[in-house]
Amino acid sequence: MIHDRTLCRAPALTIAAFFLAAGMSWGQGVAEGPEAPKPHEVQEAPLDYRELTANVRAAEAQANNVVVYGQWQGPPLINGIPQGSKVIDGDMIVPGAFDTATAATYAVNLWPGGIVPYEFDGNVDNNEANAMLAAMSWWENVAWVDFRPRNGDDYFIHIQDNTFNNSSVGRIDNGQIINITNWNNTAIMAHELGHALGYWHEQSAVDRDTYVTINTANVCQNCCQQSDGSMGSCNFNFQIEAASNSYGPYDFDSVMHYGRCAFSSDGTCGNTCPGMGETVVVKAPWNAEWQCGNPPTDNTFIGQRTHLSYWDGVVMSFMYPRPNWRFQSSPWGADFNSGSFLQPFLSFTKSYNETPAGGTMWVLDPTTLFVNFELNKAMTIAAPTGVVVLDRL
Ligand SMILES: [Zn+2]
Repeated sequence: MIHDRTLCRAPALTIAAFFLAAGMSWGQGVAEGPEAPKPHEVQEAPLDYRELTANVRAAEAQANNVVVYGQWQGPPLINGIPQGSKVIDGDMIVPGAFDTATAATYAVNLWPGGIVPYEFDGNVDNNEANAMLAAMSWWENVAWVDFRPRNGDDYFIHIQDNTFNNSSVGRIDNGQIINITNWNNTAIMAHELGHALGYWHEQSAVDRDTYVTINTANVCQNCCQQSDGSMGSCNFNFQIEAASNSYGPYDFDSVMHYGRCAFSSDGTCGNTCPGMGETVVVKAPWNAEWQCGNPPTDNTFIGQRTHLSYWDGVVMSFMYPRPNWRFQSSPWGADFNSGSFLQPFLSFTKSYNETPAGGTMWVLDPTTLFVNFELNKAMTIAAPTGVVVLDRL
């Protein structure tokens, strides 16, 4: 692991020893006065995903995964959905008053400490429950997340068998429902768990129109339940959600991305690719790789349901980070944020000071950062998306 190696190489407190990773470099600025010790720089290939998956907590978390049953005691369920809620985008349970305006300010609540109590409904059999536990382990393997049996917890997920898949987004009060029909597909269950952990859909990202075209002409106009209960247009399933906390490059490979035929009015859409009736079309030049892929030899197409993507794992590991990780996003501004991924520190100095020795400081934006003090703490500084230059003032 990076952390251990870095610690081992820090010979003394007075020696600047830190670690640069993933496209970071030390700038060529001229230092005035006594030259600060040059940091211990290690050139590495781009951050290896395995570093993120070496989660010492996962084995412990999975050892505790057992099938426990509980009876839903929350709001009455109407067609499997708590009264007062509704379903948008096909499978996300949101408050009944949720609309586009709400989406701009809708706060996704994360699970404190990454601990997610769960219970299964009595209509889930043992094999189905164990299949869901496997899906839970996918997230436990990449992020500081621990699904554990409910033990009187006020916040929890209640997983039940139904004729469709859906889930709330993030943690909500008084328990929440996950409905599952595809018990034989781990990735689909991981997708619903992704919502419960706080993910929106990838194609809801604010920059999605740069990467995909939504063919409204092909969207079914009588397939989706409206707020008055009638059946009508599915157009509202293709909204951009300003609240979606997307990070990194637009991720065609995400398990949270719609398929190309989502809510299509053409029942033959899925028969051939490219085909008639597609609702989501990847733009050039990415379409050559991501619209149809090259099945069955690979899964490079939007809407894959076989695995978590690289960025699915990275971003979830940031939303649920190890205790000694801190985040920094901009070289200027005030610094009252908590240093979490969603509320990163703004200055390099604050972030550096707040990152524990042996921890990791994630510099989220490619940039040049000017540093006017000696770096003398053993820690990892990593740039997930691009080049960060540390320069001397
Ligand atoms: Zn979904």
